Amino acid sequence: MRSKMIKKRKISFNSPYCGKKEIENIKKLSSLRYYSGNGYFTKKCSGWITKNIKCKEALLVHSCTAALEMCAILLDIKKGDEIIMPSYTFVSTANAFAMRGGIPVFVDIDPLTLNIDPKNIKNAISKNTKAIVVVHYGGVSCDMDPILEIAKTYKLYVIEDAAQAILSTYKGRPLGSIGDLATLSFHETKNVHCGEGGALLINNPKFIRRAKIIRDKGTNRDLFNKNMVKKYTWVDLGSSYMLSEINAAFLYAQFQKAKKITTQRKSIFNLYHKQLKILEQKGLIIRAKIPSYSGFNGHIYYIQILKKKRLDLIKYLNNKSIMSVFHYIPLHSSSFGKKNTITRSKMNYTNATSNHLLRLPMHTNMSNRDIKKVTIAIFNFFDA
Ligand SMILES: *Cc1c(COP(=O)(O)O)cnc(C)c1O
Repeated sequence: MRSKMIKKRKISFNSPYCGKKEIENIKKLSSLRYYSGNGYFTKKCSGWITKNIKCKEALLVHSCTAALEMCAILLDIKKGDEIIMPSYTFVSTANAFAMRGGIPVFVDIDPLTLNIDPKNIKNAISKNTKAIVVVHYGGVSCDMDPILEIAKTYKLYVIEDAAQAILSTYKGRPLGSIGDLATLSFHETKNVHCGEGGALLINNPKFIRRAKIIRDKGTNRDLFNKNMVKKYTWVDLGSSYMLSEINAAFLYAQFQKAKKITTQRKSIFNLYHKQLKILEQKGLIIRAKIPSYSGFNGHIYYIQILKKKRLDLIKYLNNKSIMSVFHYIPLHSSSFGKKNTITRSKMNYTNATSNHLLRLPMHTNMSNRDIKKVTIAIFNFFDA
């Protein structure tokens, strides 16, 4: 009976962390009697972000997607404006700009990091280019210095989609503190979460005032709350982007454990990495790589499968109750992307990665035994 139960134990792909404090914080709201946005816990969370990520301003919003949409409004993206970004990313990176009439312009990734390759950016710039959106894939930093240099030369804004990159660094600088604007996600699939949530980080101070208005339905309610205007009114574009206090209360408890969660995830990453080394040496897989300029956060662990079919490995692992997933369908080859975007480089690495990459289980409920079980199964699959 017992051995049967052990055999059945599923190693899930993700398992969102939730401690006691998250729920205790939410209970506290009944005495505070304030549940909508911008209350006690929202301020606590913003304070944590500005302190730990060293950005000038942090606005909590209901998703990273919302924060990206706010970026497009802040940059006054209009029909025909071009935004350079990787195609190997989550749909929101591009959609937020397409929604305002902007055209996502895709370039290929660096095969080492799977991040936008700075070498491809210059050729993609036109007179309509407004910004470069970088994505720190898997919480590993893009090579920011050459990107910042290009942005400076061509007077382009830089936005960091740091959805996966909380507490990661580039040459010691926190990701999210480098671009004019940056976005974080607190979706339950990310390292630190509140179910659904996100933040807009602002480093270029000229965006701060307007960002608060855009987050609050295009009104100057923030000034009203501070007694700086008698009535609040419609002053700009905007939407209902605020995060509720219920989510912020949960999130603040997560922030207080964020460094511990990161350490745990990094140790899982390191164990996978060590155990799978031989498979890479035998030329059967390529392991995730961390360049020396990046401090990482263990957001994901992936391998690229070279000698066998990815789908066969997924099925093989699934039969052993081990869940693994792949992503992304590159945006340039998606059905919407084919019609509404431009590609201005070869897409060899983007296409290859999307065909070969597999993400292994990664969450704080994993034991070392679980990790061993996964790696042994992979060795057996390859007969290695
Ligand atoms: C998760 C993710 C998003 C979207 O985050 P939400 O909070 O779910 O809106 C955007 N970009 C990247 C790169 C992501 O990984």
